[in-house]
Amino acid sequence: MVLGDQLDPASAVLRDIDAARDVVLMMEVAAESRHVPSHVQRTVVFLSAMRHFAGELVAKGLRVRYVSLADAANTQTFEGELSRAVRDLKPEAIVVLEPGEHRVRVALQEAADGLGVPLEVRADEHFLTPREVFAAHASSRKSLIMEFFYREQRKRLDVLMERGKPVGGDWNFDKENRESFGRDGPHAPAVLRFEPDAITCGVMEDVRRVLPELPGRIESFGWAVTRAQALESLQDFVEHRLDDFGPYEDAMWTGQTWLYHSQLSVPLNLKLISPRECVEAALARHARRPVPLASLEGFVRQIIGWREFIRGVYFHEGPSYETRNYLEEHGMLPSFYWDGKTEMKCLRECVGQVLDHAYTHHIPRLMVLANFALISGVHPKKISDWFLAMFADAVDWVTLPNTLGMAMHADGVTAEQATKKQPSKGPVVGTKPYAASGKYISRMSNYCRHCAFDVEKRTGDDACPFNTFYWDFLIRNKDRFKGNQRMVMVMKNVERLSRPDVVEITVSAKKLREKLGIGAIGGT
Ligand code: SF4
Repeated sequence: MVLGDQLDPASAVLRDIDAARDVVLMMEVAAESRHVPSHVQRTVVFLSAMRHFAGELVAKGLRVRYVSLADAANTQTFEGELSRAVRDLKPEAIVVLEPGEHRVRVALQEAADGLGVPLEVRADEHFLTPREVFAAHASSRKSLIMEFFYREQRKRLDVLMERGKPVGGDWNFDKENRESFGRDGPHAPAVLRFEPDAITCGVMEDVRRVLPELPGRIESFGWAVTRAQALESLQDFVEHRLDDFGPYEDAMWTGQTWLYHSQLSVPLNLKLISPRECVEAALARHARRPVPLASLEGFVRQIIGWREFIRGVYFHEGPSYETRNYLEEHGMLPSFYWDGKTEMKCLRECVGQVLDHAYTHHIPRLMVLANFALISGVHPKKISDWFLAMFADAVDWVTLPNTLGMAMHADGVTAEQATKKQPSKGPVVGTKPYAASGKYISRMSNYCRHCAFDVEKRTGDDACPFNTFYWDFLIRNKDRFKGNQRMVMVMKNVERLSRPDVVEITVSAKKLREKLGIGAIGGT
């Protein structure tokens, strides 16, 4: 069995396949696009890449049982399709690569048990860090910190190392990677996008018929859907955008979705290309024509550090991770996350990019879309599910720790929330919440220049809502953050607020939450 995010011809499932004996099972099922209401581009990129991949397997002489979304007999669930396949093929066993989502693993195991067929789950060797290596790293420390994991990866994989020391004398050059574009805006080269071919157009037609309710817009679709296209994207990035990737990594600009970012998270998460190939391509480019170290190191860190760390956390923390709510927030997700209809320019722009492309780069995700949910008191699982639904590169292993952990600071367990299976502990992914006021957005983009709200104001009808919610967030979590060393300076500012200021902020935030349909926080 090959799932939609396992499209690697050299995977542990396909490596020893016997064309005379084995059948490859691939299934397009509507339930996977409805489990969270998956963006139409996310659905199309998965299914189109699957159809192209199946065609390549058939061309190699393998037998493929491929269930298309619009097949009349399709039961539209993994369980139903597994049952039909077992009935027709009578297999001795089902072999699958470890799914990137606990829910899918449980569903497949239960289906196989119910059908009385053994399920063999093989390790996913796409990643650079075997599960045992991450477990050894995690068990040797009191808390998990990406930077330490990353340093170990650099040494273990011998990437950007020189006689046992990091190249350039430092592990991390992020301080050099915080440029904004200034008044003139960016001059980033156009990114390589791919015209939908007949197979992709066929998928679009099937999705239109079977899943007409999906959110998002399809018109701009241009994702790589084959390994050849993914490799072209990789070359395009290392040749044309890698040099400026570092300094402008965090910058945002109206009407500019891609900037110097790579678009590689989509083909990487579908496994059309490997992390090793990405790092090797960047290093080869550096050998041919030197890349500024802050850009090269920044890219390498994303691939061998952050991506592998996040996956390690997902499996290390296990299925109960998704239930955590360390800050005890219970608000609803405002409706503008689904339609972009808001007067807040930054959110209108970033949600608009998501609706148009199923993508924004990491700073709109972290510092606009998730930041607003964090400081306004949205329930962490509601915003995590939105990220899982709306991004073309979303798979549970990557989306959940990034959103619930990194962005929402929700992956700790309070004493009140603790159970036998989940003892109390502090947040895992982030050592402090990534909460920011409008000031950060104003510094890193041109959004505030075209907004109905005033980024200088904290309260009042025309005050920037990020400011109101930012201060309210700090006030309502004052006791929780006071022991956090990384929050000392920020919390001193909260202590300096006068009593009337505190009341004004709290009342303004409450009104704003009601207006936006977020509702009460803290379940009160
Ligand atoms: Fe966003 Fe506030 Fe700036 Fe408007 S003023 S764009 S709401 S940060």
